[in-house]
Amino acid sequence: MPIVNRLADLTDEITAWRRDIHENPEILYETVRTAGKVAELLQSFGVDEITTGIGETGVVGVIRGRNGGAGKTIGLRADMDALPIAETTGKTYASKTPGKMHACGHDGHTAMLLGAAKYLAETRNFDGTVVVIFQPAEEGGAGAKAMIDDGLMTRWPIDEVYGMHNYPGLPVGEFAICKGPIMAATDEFKIKIGGKGGHAAKPHNTIDPIVVGAQMVNAFQTIASRNANPLDSVVVSVTIFEAGNAFNVIPQSAVLRGTIRTLNPTVRHMAEERLYAIARLTAETFGATADISFRRGYPVTENHAEQTDFAADVAEGIAGAGKVDRNVEPMMGGEDFSYMLEARPGAFIFSGNGDSAGLHHPDYDFNDEAIPYGCSYWVKLVETALPVAA
Ligand SMILES: [Zn+2]
Ligand SMILES: [Zn+2]
Repeated sequence: MPIVNRLADLTDEITAWRRDIHENPEILYETVRTAGKVAELLQSFGVDEITTGIGETGVVGVIRGRNGGAGKTIGLRADMDALPIAETTGKTYASKTPGKMHACGHDGHTAMLLGAAKYLAETRNFDGTVVVIFQPAEEGGAGAKAMIDDGLMTRWPIDEVYGMHNYPGLPVGEFAICKGPIMAATDEFKIKIGGKGGHAAKPHNTIDPIVVGAQMVNAFQTIASRNANPLDSVVVSVTIFEAGNAFNVIPQSAVLRGTIRTLNPTVRHMAEERLYAIARLTAETFGATADISFRRGYPVTENHAEQTDFAADVAEGIAGAGKVDRNVEPMMGGEDFSYMLEARPGAFIFSGNGDSAGLHHPDYDFNDEAIPYGCSYWVKLVETALPVAA
């Protein structure tokens, strides 16, 4: 069963929505125009119920099946927000807002879910209920969590939830997924090292925070190399080291900042504990102080086994045999769909974006040729999960 004909016919229309959203990028929770367009289109499709303002600027649409919606409810999620990046694609529909662009393809995700909603509202070839979820603030603002906190899973009693992200480097028309962790937990730390400044030629009268920080950076490497099981994944990256402003002065203080990425809660907890211990005890060893702040970011995006098999089977029905990688390597990037998978069973799948620039690159663009595949995946997922009673 390849791509759905009706969706192939709708591709030009869906592409036009995608490019309009691309031209008008909005960041984090500021997705007012995008949400307005989404709600307006859902209305024009004859979607049964539309609610705006969930998780500040999220939109929820309800489409009931032939039996009036009784039985199971499936949630399908797209993200709507863009990034603070200056676009360099030179496309005719490039961002009209300086310094903002859709560099993660959320314009494509939104347009594909709109296309699926149009088809599902038109055909209703299913029993039960579909809830289409359009969220703000995926890029660091935890918009998914904000929608859940506003009652997303209970006001609309969602039984299972599915998400999709485009994947540069994977050919268009192909999909990739894996059971268990597919995206990492993303935590952030900041350590302020307090030393004692002074003349660079009299180091014995100082406590040099740069030397202390250098020891910490080195010692943090042992979290991955000597604390974590070699078969587990953990990234500890110090990405900012700020100190000093003169060649002949030992500064008073230094600041280290960075990120920790992990794929399971035990390793996540261990890495946080070790970071604290190393920072505190290293500072103490050299007579300095360490003021540590740690911010837990998105949890691990963990696919549920049964729903992953189901999603992979649906994708294979669209893409064909051999076009679905069922054991893709997890990515160490984060994704706030993780909160939805903590709340309900479901699965997150990657859809091929072809030979494009990478995500978050100023030259990146969502590949419109992927639209019929992504839309077909959504509608077949619904029609298979919620079959019309014979
Ligand atoms: Zn992104
Ligand atoms: Zn993204």
